[in-house]
Amino acid sequence: MRVLVVEDERRLAAAVRRGLSAEGFVVDLAHDGVDGLHMAREGGYDAVVLDLMLPGMSGYKVCERLRAERNWVPVLILSAKDGEYDQADGLDLGADDYMTKPFSYVVLAARLRALLRRGARPRPAVLAAGDLVLDPAARSVRRGGTGIELTAREFALLEYLMRRLGQAVPKAELLEHVWDADAVADLNVVEVYAGYLRRKIDVPFGRNALQTVRGAGYRLAADGG
Ligand code: CA
Repeated sequence: MRVLVVEDERRLAAAVRRGLSAEGFVVDLAHDGVDGLHMAREGGYDAVVLDLMLPGMSGYKVCERLRAERNWVPVLILSAKDGEYDQADGLDLGADDYMTKPFSYVVLAARLRALLRRGARPRPAVLAAGDLVLDPAARSVRRGGTGIELTAREFALLEYLMRRLGQAVPKAELLEHVWDADAVADLNVVEVYAGYLRRKIDVPFGRNALQTVRGAGYRLAADGG
């Protein structure tokens, strides 16, 4: 497995290379954000270990750029920044894991192996169906350039359908995943909320993204309707 380590402190970078090599990884090094992004783009890496405070371009920016380019290489942020918001920002920008320095090579290698098991399938931080865009971290929805205000339940319903884009999702499954276990187990509530959602994401725009699948449930059109 080939890993790119982007780390500007050269002694630490060399130590990470030794540590991961001992665990069986093949390691290349980049010492600033610009080189790191360039090398990650060239591909051929099974994972990227990314520092945040880098000359040229921050690790946040490197990660954000890769995901914007639909590059899904697993990214593990390795940073001295240990604040809860630093970690949340990194993960919300599309990183897969976050470790703070100082760290253990044994744990770093194990976490990389865990990321490699999950693979590089698409896992966008922001969900899109055509021009309908939902950002789970920002809790925002927009259609084209227009922001849409949703209640928490409407948002959860739309997010679930967007994660199953183009598939018919049974009402019972929506009830189970979007409503609390102690909510009234009444499929009618799903229909009511589907109606609310349509009036916000479709009707004002003359669109038909949220489709009823007779006898099955609901489908969110992959193209946004
Ligand atoms: Ca640094």
